[in-house]
Amino acid sequence: MPKRVLITGAAGFIGSHLCDRFWEEGFDVLALDNLCTGNLDNLAHLFGRPRFTFLHHDITNFIHVPGELHYILHFASPASPADYLRMPIQTLKVGALGTHKCLGLARAKGATILLASTSEVYGDPLEHPQKETYWGNVNPIGVRGVYDEAKRFLEAMAMAYHRTHGLSIRIVRIFNTYGPRMRLDDGRVLPNFIGQALRNEPLTVYGDGSQTRSFCYVSDLVEGIFRLLLYTDYPYPVNLGNPEEVSILDFAKEILALVPESRSTIVFHPLPEDDPKVRRPDITLARELLGWEPQVPRQEGLRRSIAYFREKIAVA
Ligand code: UDP
Repeated sequence: MPKRVLITGAAGFIGSHLCDRFWEEGFDVLALDNLCTGNLDNLAHLFGRPRFTFLHHDITNFIHVPGELHYILHFASPASPADYLRMPIQTLKVGALGTHKCLGLARAKGATILLASTSEVYGDPLEHPQKETYWGNVNPIGVRGVYDEAKRFLEAMAMAYHRTHGLSIRIVRIFNTYGPRMRLDDGRVLPNFIGQALRNEPLTVYGDGSQTRSFCYVSDLVEGIFRLLLYTDYPYPVNLGNPEEVSILDFAKEILALVPESRSTIVFHPLPEDDPKVRRPDITLARELLGWEPQVPRQEGLRRSIAYFREKIAVA
């Protein structure tokens, strides 16, 4: 009998890629989403296949799953700053109440649960690059606090279930990830810049563009998650991301260079509140624990992403 995995946030960007990977590996995939930011187009190719079931459900309410369950991947949450600023209470609820429901379900089923945390637990970091041992610099009452604190609560709750009930857990701290199936309008820097470049609109750099991020292609992230869940029993947080750091201004120029027909220029807009100035993962732990290393260079990942968004815009 195939092992059964429940994936929350399954219709989202990362969730849908996880559905693909676990399905391809022979798992029975139970996909959950309330579709507040997810999109069923991301799962359309899986509908009608054996070993795939979709449930439209809001996991802040009791989750009823008949039968066996071996693994849970908890990825439900608004994840782009624009989304969680628009849905602050839902973001806090899914990180707190939704996480609690998932942990309770894992405990009831004797399942192993992997929970999606984030580099945002480091806030505007005073340590650079960020190691898992760094406790972070988060403004709890700032506008980003709804996401950061929800994810910090998620980690605390998962550790409490592990310590109290011996629950088998994994926690992944995900740094900026990109690739096909990101929403063109999710407000994040990559869909914004690529969408703007393809439409010949100015690229909107916030602040002076000197803030940095490190972008990991989605297939690399999925590989790391797969290994963390199945090759280890390590219960503490593990950073997954690409350590290659780039300033946002240079990132805009890179994207323009990859869309040579674009007539876009670069314009500067005010920096959003509490926007982290730097972000780069220290992935020593993932390298040692998982033998994992990002494989897709940014130029290649950007080419694939541009091809995806080009098609989306053409169809729209
Ligand atoms: N950003 C930008 N222009 C945009 C969107 C974002 O300059 O149109 C900046 C944003 O201020 C931040 C970085 O790009 O410094 C990454 O933003 P994103 O929303 O992708 O995610 P974050 O890493 O801040 O969670």
